[in-house]
Amino acid sequence: MKLRVNEIFFSIQGEGIQIGVPTIFLRLFGCDLRCTWCDSMYAVEGEDYKDLKVGDLIQKIESLNCKNICITGGEPLLQQDTLIVLVDALIQRKFKILLETAGHIKPSHIFHDLNVLISMDCKCPASKMEKKTNFSILESLQEKDQIKFVISDKNDYEYARKIITDKNFRAKIIFQPVYGANISFLADLILEDNLKVRVLPQLHKIIWGDIRGI
Ligand code: SF4
Repeated sequence: MKLRVNEIFFSIQGEGIQIGVPTIFLRLFGCDLRCTWCDSMYAVEGEDYKDLKVGDLIQKIESLNCKNICITGGEPLLQQDTLIVLVDALIQRKFKILLETAGHIKPSHIFHDLNVLISMDCKCPASKMEKKTNFSILESLQEKDQIKFVISDKNDYEYARKIITDKNFRAKIIFQPVYGANISFLADLILEDNLKVRVLPQLHKIIWGDIRGI
């Protein structure tokens, strides 16, 4: 069984509730969405991938000597049938797994394991993908999981505020400014409205800028 892999590297988790934690990143290739602000198009279009056997991937992951792994993309759940085999093997080997996914494909039962944190996007209007969101999937997430709104402008902010007010989410809520936007505009709005969310930057981009593979 093989997975279509764009890259694998060791770095710092730059987003969400595990921000700052040293982590292995496994970036799978391919995505069926096209967000306007996508910062990983090299994993969406083109030919920058290798088809790797699950067994070889496990060997590579174990050689990096870290028990935290983030499975990202692209959209990892497009390869869900094979990904489940890898995730099961990683759980057996006591890894803590973070799955990054876009909120339109239902994660299988294995991703609800306590050793897996699902980080699911809720796409805002500036992405031009907001109609793809399946809210019943977001509402099925648990307290251990997180829902991430990437916010470009005031219109995105108001959309996100309405969604978290109207929907019954159990997962933790992250508001993250799109890369290049000023985080203070978002922090000010959140304080003004007293929203129960976390506002977080992309730490890896503060440290290294928009450089790939770190
Ligand atoms: S879902 Fe993610 S990988 Fe796919 S286009 Fe949007 S930002 Fe890029």
